Amino acid sequence: MDLSRRAAELDAADPIAHFRSLFEGSDSDLVYLDGNSLGRPLRAVRSRLDEFVTGAWGSGLIRSWDEEWMELPFAVGDRIGVLALGAAPGQTVVADSTSVMLYKLLRAAVDRQQALDPARCEIVVDEANFPTDRYLVEGIAAERGLDLRWLTPSPELSTEQVTAALGPRTAVVLLSHITYQSGQIADVAAITAAAHRAGALVLWDLCHSAGAVPIELDRWQVDLAVGCTYKYLNGGPGSPAFGYVAVRHQAALRQPLQGWMGHAEPFVMGPGYRPADGMRRFLTGTPPVLAMQPLIAFLDVFADAGIEAVRAKGVALTEFAIAISDELLAPLGVQVGSPRAAADRGNHVLLRHPRMREVTAALWQRDVIPDFREPDGLRIGLSPLSTSFAEVARGLSVVAELLTARLM
Ligand SMILES: *Cc1c(COP(=O)(O)O)cnc(C)c1O
Repeated sequence: MDLSRRAAELDAADPIAHFRSLFEGSDSDLVYLDGNSLGRPLRAVRSRLDEFVTGAWGSGLIRSWDEEWMELPFAVGDRIGVLALGAAPGQTVVADSTSVMLYKLLRAAVDRQQALDPARCEIVVDEANFPTDRYLVEGIAAERGLDLRWLTPSPELSTEQVTAALGPRTAVVLLSHITYQSGQIADVAAITAAAHRAGALVLWDLCHSAGAVPIELDRWQVDLAVGCTYKYLNGGPGSPAFGYVAVRHQAALRQPLQGWMGHAEPFVMGPGYRPADGMRRFLTGTPPVLAMQPLIAFLDVFADAGIEAVRAKGVALTEFAIAISDELLAPLGVQVGSPRAAADRGNHVLLRHPRMREVTAALWQRDVIPDFREPDGLRIGLSPLSTSFAEVARGLSVVAELLTARLM
């Protein structure tokens, strides 16, 4: 196939192609295949920050806390919830990093389960989960004297495997909706239902799915979820995390980082911690208002496009990448390490080859930017609003060139 022509045809037929020009750097020749680690900035961020500095911060000063900022974690959280999570308002908050939010919600959940039934002393987690998830759960288990039940994906984690691990000892299940390596999508509804039948709670990590695939937290009866906003939600480096707690659990859960912003009356500054009602109790300290500005700008763009169109293009991009890999890269020894069925796959594709570490370094030199994941994975993240089919074609052609050069 004539790759660049195919790519040009796909770009021409893409109903959301025009969003790409809203992103900084999209007019350069650089090929960006890592939007799932750090999304590109919107051009509109520049004016938004400028207005923020002169307006709410520079002129409003401390008054802006009363007028706007105290409610921002909930206002932005609700918007993420409605646009990207299938969550009705009042259940999503923006704060902290994903790691800290995960700690708070996981501790809250295991503490609640232990209080209801001390025999529930096990946390189910899988070995392929993201490192911060694995490290945090180890820490919580040590802190609370709990056991960890590690599941080994082979090569992917199946719903049956999770279900088989559940029982009267299970307190909480901690899993990722989309795994950071292969991009496999878990069946959240089925696993959550199985956990509930066993009396367990589930915390879902949505870092690689929020803003990429449709999510229905309320409909799937999810208990708790966390995710980050700097990947497919383009919030910028270090933009804060979101946390979701189903309304039915909020009153019964207490998180361990009892700061003043989670207090029922933060400005009374009285003795003794008393958790606020609703999602406020899951806050700890001063909300990261400045760090939310690019995210707020992105949510407007995301609302225009809609998750259905974003997902449809995500599928088309990953299908295109896999087709190129089968045609150009498979003869050079590359294997697709992601699910082949689009319905089982998020917006990134893992391409495996023993030389991928060197290939990734050479790609970065040539302004083609994917990620490398141990031990042999080239991970290409395709961010539907900012990635073009032409970028995918160009990037993978350079991979083929580099692998061919190494074979000679
Ligand atoms: C990116 C990612 C994180 C990141 O956590 P931070 O605290 O924001 O660094 C956590 N979990 C998963 C699954 C991720 O993909």
